[in-house]
Amino acid sequence: MTILEDARRVAENGPVCDACLGRCFADRSFGLTNAERGRSLRIAAALEDDEPYEPEDEVCWVCEDESQRFDEWAEKVADSLEGWNFDTYQVGTRTPPLIEENEALLRESADLPDDAGESFKSEFNREVGKRVGQLTETEVDFERPDVLALLNVEAAPRASDDGAISDHAVEVQINSAFVYGRYRKLERDIPQTEWPCRECGGSGKQLAAGGGEEPCDHCGGSGYLYDESVEQLTTPPVLDAMDGEEALFHGAGREDVDALMLDTGRPFVIEVKRPQRRNVDTDALEAEINEFADGKAEVTDLTLATHGMVERVKELDASKTYRMDVEFDADVSEQALEEAVEELRGTTVEQDTPQRVDHRRASITRTRTVYDVEGHLEDERHAELEVHGEGGLYVKELVSGDEGRTTPSLAGLLGVGAEVTALDVVAVEGEDEAFDDPEYLKESA
Ligand SMILES: [Zn+2]
Ligand SMILES: [Zn+2]
Repeated sequence: MTILEDARRVAENGPVCDACLGRCFADRSFGLTNAERGRSLRIAAALEDDEPYEPEDEVCWVCEDESQRFDEWAEKVADSLEGWNFDTYQVGTRTPPLIEENEALLRESADLPDDAGESFKSEFNREVGKRVGQLTETEVDFERPDVLALLNVEAAPRASDDGAISDHAVEVQINSAFVYGRYRKLERDIPQTEWPCRECGGSGKQLAAGGGEEPCDHCGGSGYLYDESVEQLTTPPVLDAMDGEEALFHGAGREDVDALMLDTGRPFVIEVKRPQRRNVDTDALEAEINEFADGKAEVTDLTLATHGMVERVKELDASKTYRMDVEFDADVSEQALEEAVEELRGTTVEQDTPQRVDHRRASITRTRTVYDVEGHLEDERHAELEVHGEGGLYVKELVSGDEGRTTPSLAGLLGVGAEVTALDVVAVEGEDEAFDDPEYLKESA
């Protein structure tokens, strides 16, 4: 069966527009739009029959001439995206069930398979998408576009007086924008993220004795256990620069609230939801954040990032180096400390879930490596220790032994009680060295 015979049977089911005709043969002839293909098939058929070519001028029963409105739809999408800053987009189409039914019917009545050629939806996405790219001078991205426009064809009744596409026929989704960086925490008692009060659950209120509500005693009514967090010290300038609705902080793990985070800092990603702007100057932004954080925290290596970075940062199983002040409950000699440190260096430690960790969490035994330890006595009751450990090593328990739940431990080896009185994280490094290269992260995200 020739393509021309098939085309003639499709056209006989008219009135069918050139696009709907051509779409039936999209898999059998190439290099044209469906409308061009339909038109040339019609002309060829007329030539063969030695009849004059007559363009179809009645309204198409299959698509109700929706296939001739790609320009209008694209303009509507561009209008809806006005004011949003984006580099990549994707177009999706919600096809009316009636059009899908008509498409199957058209093919069936011409003895074609009911999925012959291309679907209305697929052509609509491509043709409108192509025009959106030209109008907005942006690139299509099928994976993770900055913005997504959903065309609700059914919600754009053509019967309206001016034939205009109504506002609600185009739904626009603005995806988040991201910046990657590393932070240092230069003051103690600052959690990484906002820490809601456990007494009032973050509401800041409690029931008053005489009925009604009063400010929560535990948090003083703020709803938070700490006034500031690294999140609160770093996200506002980013939210502001990108003019978004909300900012989220994703850290590569977290240090204890009372620990400093020093040296090369800890990787993080700040996510800004519904940003008006994306291509912000990260050098200027870095300076703004550091001024805003007022010496309590500091960020470096700030760069624009992708969605994939969030998962990568959250999953980072980083090794960490800690500096600790340790206090003993009995005198310790320099030699004893040296021997214990020697023993711990390179060892594998077994740790039951620490008692300080939420007691509702099931206790498990984990195994972690102590890559390196250095230590020296300040006096007979005090030492300074530097520990480089595998990600997930409970370092306070490595010192105290946690009543036998961590073995070996510094306290166990020395035979005296030992307690960490101050703890700083001096380095966070990916176990995979490439992690420390932001360019690598961006590419592989
Ligand atoms: Zn049509
Ligand atoms: Zn409270």
